[in-house]
Amino acid sequence: MTSPATKSIALHCTNCGHVMLYEGRETTCTRCGESILEARYDLDALRRNGWAEQLMRRKPGLWRYHELLPVLNPDHIVTMGEGGTPLVKARNLGVMLGLKHLYIKDERQGPTGSFKDRQAAVATTVMQELGVREAVVASTGNVAIAYAAYAARAGIKLWAFLTSQVPGEKMREVALYGAEVIKVTGTYDATKAVAARFAQTRGIFLDRGVKSIAAIESMKTMAFEIAEDLGWRAPDWFIQAVSGGMGPIGVAKGFQELIELGLADKVPAIGIVQSEGCAPMVQAFQAGQRIAVPVDNPQTLIATLSTGQPGRAYEMLWSLIQQHGGAAESASDDEAFEAMRLLARADGLSVEPATAVAFAGLFKMVRSGTIKPDDVVVINCSGHTFPVEKHILGDQWARQVDVSKAGRTISLPEEGLLSALEQVETTINRVVVIEDNVNAARLISRILQARHTYQVEIATDGPSGIELVRRVQPDVIITDLMMPGMDGFQVIDTLKADEALSRIPVIVLTAKDLTPRERERLSGQIDALLQKGGFIDEDLLQSIVKTLQ
Ligand SMILES: *Cc1c(COP(=O)(O)O)cnc(C)c1O
Ligand SMILES: [Zn+2]
Repeated sequence: MTSPATKSIALHCTNCGHVMLYEGRETTCTRCGESILEARYDLDALRRNGWAEQLMRRKPGLWRYHELLPVLNPDHIVTMGEGGTPLVKARNLGVMLGLKHLYIKDERQGPTGSFKDRQAAVATTVMQELGVREAVVASTGNVAIAYAAYAARAGIKLWAFLTSQVPGEKMREVALYGAEVIKVTGTYDATKAVAARFAQTRGIFLDRGVKSIAAIESMKTMAFEIAEDLGWRAPDWFIQAVSGGMGPIGVAKGFQELIELGLADKVPAIGIVQSEGCAPMVQAFQAGQRIAVPVDNPQTLIATLSTGQPGRAYEMLWSLIQQHGGAAESASDDEAFEAMRLLARADGLSVEPATAVAFAGLFKMVRSGTIKPDDVVVINCSGHTFPVEKHILGDQWARQVDVSKAGRTISLPEEGLLSALEQVETTINRVVVIEDNVNAARLISRILQARHTYQVEIATDGPSGIELVRRVQPDVIITDLMMPGMDGFQVIDTLKADEALSRIPVIVLTAKDLTPRERERLSGQIDALLQKGGFIDEDLLQSIVKTLQ
C-alpha cells in the first residue's frame, strides 16, 4: 500500500475553493467557514501508474481502492470484508418491467446487511487515525448497526442515538454489539440535535454523517465496483432510496473520479426515491426548486428514510441531476411493501422496506417512460436486516430520552434538550489498565466498554501506568504482573506507598502461576486476582463490580 509519507489528500472548500491539507479532523473551511469540504487525490499520478491494471491483481473489497480513500496509514484500517458486493442481473424483474439491463447492486451482503458497512469501515478507520476512542452517532437504524459492529472491532466506545421509530429488532442489533443505545422519542432530526449536543457537552467525537469526508468517500467505492463489473463503463442510471442522500452523492463523485482516470465516460443519471410521508427532496425536485422545505413530522413506517431536513445534501443532488440527468419519485409505504413482496418472489431477494422504496420508485420511473427499455440501470439494493430475538438482551439494553414534548422539532427549545441530555448522564467508572501486551489491554477495554458505564485508559508499562493513575484518579486499576522494567509488584508497591493513590482498588490480571512468596507479597494489597487465559468476560466484570461496591 501507499506509504503514509507519500499520500497526500487535498480538501477543497465547496464554497470558496480554498484548498487545505487533509488530516482527518477538519470540519470547516479555514477561510470561509463552509462545512462541506471535498477530498481530492492525485488522479493524474494514479492514471500514469496504471491503477486499473494494478486493481486486477488485488482482492475484491472496499480497500482495494485505498488510494482514493481517506486513510493515511494502512495500519489503521478497520475491516471485516465490506465492499465487493455482487452486481446481479435481475432477470425476472427485468422481464416484468421490460428492462433489458437491470442490475441489482446487492448491498445486503455487507457484514451487517446494509451499504452503511462501507461508511462504517471508512469512518472507524478515520477514528483510528485520529486516536478517537469514543464516538457519538445519530441514526435511523443502519448506520448505528454498522458503526456498532465496526466500533466493537476497533475497541471504540459508541453512543448510538436512535429515533424511537427504529424497529426494536434493529435497536437490539446495535445493543448486541455493545454500543450504548439511546432511544430518543422524537423525530430523527431531533435525535441528531440531541446527539450533537451530547457529544459537545461531553467532548466526544461526533460523526458528521453526510457532511463527513469518510461518508462520501466510502460511497464512491460502489461506483468503482459497478463500473469495474460493467467492464469499466458507467450505467445510464443509478437508483437509490434516499434519506440523507449520501449514497448517490458519493456514487456521483466516484464516477467523476473515474472519468478523470479514464475509466468511465459519464456520471449516470441519478434516480432518487423517498417515502411519500417524508419526501422533502422529491417535493422540491418536482416543484423545480433548488432548496427543499423540511418535513417537520415525517409520516412513514419506514424509519430508515425519515430524514425530514435534507439541508445541503439536496442542493448537491439537485445540481448533480441538473448536470447529469436524473429523476425523483416518492412511494407510499404500501407501494413499498408491495414491491418488497414482488422482489422476493420474482428474484429471491428479501430486502428491508427502505430498499423496497427504491424499487417502487423504479417501477414508476419505468412506467412513466423516464427510464427506457434499453437503459443500463443499477439499483442499490441497500439493506437487509437480521432481527435479534428479544430474549437475548433482557430489558435494560437502551435508555430513553423524550424530546417530543419539547415543541416543534426544528426550533427545539434548549431546555427540553438539556433535560433530555441529563437523562443520558450516568456515573461512569474510570478504569486504568496497566498491561504491556497491547492486544490483552484492548480486549479488557472492549469487555468493559461493552458494559456501558466504564471508561478505560491504557498504559503499557509501569511508570506510565502510575503517571496515568495520578492524572485520571480512576475508580479501579487493573494491572498485569509480568512487565519489562518496572513489574506489577513494584507498581502495586508504589501505589500503596502513595497516600493519594493507596485507596484505589487494584485487580491483578496475570498469566503467571504465583509462588507462595509472591502471593504473600500481594495479600492485603489487591482486591482480586484473575488468571489470564482462565477468565471470561463475566469473571472480570464480576470482580470489578464487587470491587467497586
Ligand atoms: C441509509 C439507507 C438509505 C438511505 O441512504 P442515504 O444515501 O443516506 O440517503 C437507504 N436504504 C437503506 C437500507 C439505508 O440504510
Ligand atoms: Zn471556503
